[in-house]
Amino acid sequence: MKEKKRLLFHVCCGPCSIALFEELKEQFDEVVAYFYNPNIHPEEEYERRKKEVELLCEEAGVSFVEGPYDSENWFALTKDLKEEREGGSRCGLCFDMRVKRAVEYAREHGFDTVATSITSGRNKRADVINPIGLTHAMEQGLVFLEADWKKGGRQEKGIAMGKEKGVYRQDYCGCVYSRIAREKQKNNDS
Ligand code: SF4
Repeated sequence: MKEKKRLLFHVCCGPCSIALFEELKEQFDEVVAYFYNPNIHPEEEYERRKKEVELLCEEAGVSFVEGPYDSENWFALTKDLKEEREGGSRCGLCFDMRVKRAVEYAREHGFDTVATSITSGRNKRADVINPIGLTHAMEQGLVFLEADWKKGGRQEKGIAMGKEKGVYRQDYCGCVYSRIAREKQKNNDS
């Protein structure tokens, strides 16, 4: 009997994942969304993004699993990197923490493949994120689905689908530092 292909899909937010569920469902026998994003601040924002993903999963017929909101661990990990710009070393640690946990969860629950929606983000470099996924997956004996999800028309498709469904689109990456940077930018622009 053919083995069932099971994908654990780490999802960071609605806008980054909305266009990908159908495509992944065609490739895998089972797709489960894993929401593990302790970087998101404040908690109300975390809840808002989580609810949006839950709703999209329901519509797409994809199971949803929430990881721990262990934001204290995220703050401890990045405490010396508050001043880093977006895309710098703080982000590297942030990707690593989330993808590593997703891979561990996948191994603990019998998945064979792991992916992350993070590379959908306009400023999120696939050449930084994919090696992190590949390393952790290799260590746990799993496959990491390498991808640059913003390519191949998916970003445009995601924007269009998001608009059509009225999906909440945040204006900062997620952490308190990216929120402060965004507020500063808005003040400078006004
Ligand atoms: S800017 Fe985004 S990716 Fe970078 S540390 Fe903050 S939440 Fe993580």
